[in-house]
Amino acid sequence: MKVYKFGGASVNSADAVRNMADIVRKHMESEPLVVVVSAMGKTTNLLERLVPGASAKGESEALREQLEKYHRDIANNLIPNNEAVQQVISRWLASMDHTIERLQGSADRYNYNYDQVVCHGELLSTSIISHYLNHMGIRTKWVDAREIVSTDNHFREGKVNWEKTQCNVDALVADFMDFDVILTQGFIGGTADGSTTTLGREGSDYSASILAYCLNAENITIWKDVPGFLNADPKYFKDTVKIQQIPYNEAIELAYYGASVIHPKTVKPIQNKGITLFIRSFITSDCEGSSIGDYRTILPETPLYIFKNNQILISIFPKDFSFIAEDNLQIIFGILSELGIRVNMMQNSALSFSICIDNNAQLTSMLVDRLQRSFHVRYNENLQLVTIRYYNQAVIDSIVAGRPILLEQRSRSTEQLIVPTKG
Ligand code: ASP
Ligand code: MG
Repeated sequence: MKVYKFGGASVNSADAVRNMADIVRKHMESEPLVVVVSAMGKTTNLLERLVPGASAKGESEALREQLEKYHRDIANNLIPNNEAVQQVISRWLASMDHTIERLQGSADRYNYNYDQVVCHGELLSTSIISHYLNHMGIRTKWVDAREIVSTDNHFREGKVNWEKTQCNVDALVADFMDFDVILTQGFIGGTADGSTTTLGREGSDYSASILAYCLNAENITIWKDVPGFLNADPKYFKDTVKIQQIPYNEAIELAYYGASVIHPKTVKPIQNKGITLFIRSFITSDCEGSSIGDYRTILPETPLYIFKNNQILISIFPKDFSFIAEDNLQIIFGILSELGIRVNMMQNSALSFSICIDNNAQLTSMLVDRLQRSFHVRYNENLQLVTIRYYNQAVIDSIVAGRPILLEQRSRSTEQLIVPTKG
């Protein structure tokens, strides 16, 4: 079996969904194709603002309306005046409204609330697309990923229970054979007690990898709006180079540092089974893309750049001027782990400990609040974290472009710096 993953940009309009369906039709084989789909366009960003406590009431109402109109318009464009597809949209919206209602007043359970609300993006997108594919004569089975991808209750970063997930896949696979396409959601999973979890932002790649692992898939293809794995995000860089071949371990490193092309956890499962992962463009779908596989070196060899914006650098000082020692670090990491905050870079000095994290307004303020009970805290916002693999000095200078460097770390192959975002 093969696994395809389509991200938000590949299904962000009715035309995009038609294009996606064309790609699927062209690649249908005797065995069913397993297709993993994200929420449409920027829906997840919108849903984040509907999590209880994230927005003022008036704003929530406007966003809720925008969400409904966006999905209904796409569905109506794909299958005009179709009762069934509009009904399934109503059903998911009602489920979302009910969930938000139920969770009002418990803003302190942010991570749990987040997953119960935000999952509706993928549920909506896959339901609409499933109706459309069937409408186009592609026999499609819609599967609820929460009943397959079994996780613990680490909300916003669910940890996969591989044994259970394998059992779930094994139990379902016999039912797959009568279909052309098995369609499911990326990003979401479920706990033993029926709560929804998510696997971390951009987690749909990881979902595809989990399924490929459990199905012993031949390969995975991630369809993106870029022609493959580029040496930098074209948003920040004019002359990008397409990387043809990436060894599994290099891909893990790049993803760990935040290469937005693939979710960090995606590679390990497929590496364990020697499954090759292709990254191809849904725009130029006949072109060859990049592949991640069992290779010895990266090809071609070139510096690789990873930019992370909207970073905040938090410096933590003990109140009693004692050195930051292990017991203080234990407190700090305990708080970070409790809040589910991932550290992108950190540095210890005699008097302070600094961490660079993604600046999520709600979580940052909870974090600062908790830290201030035990420490003095200072922070710098609007920063950019730049990672350069296979750097040289000329390359570093051109990236820094005269900006002050707030923190820098260098190893043999990797340079990381934190600088103010370009004005
Ligand atoms: N929809 C989720 C997100 O935007 C998951 C994904 O796209 O991979 O983060
Ligand atoms: Mg995405």
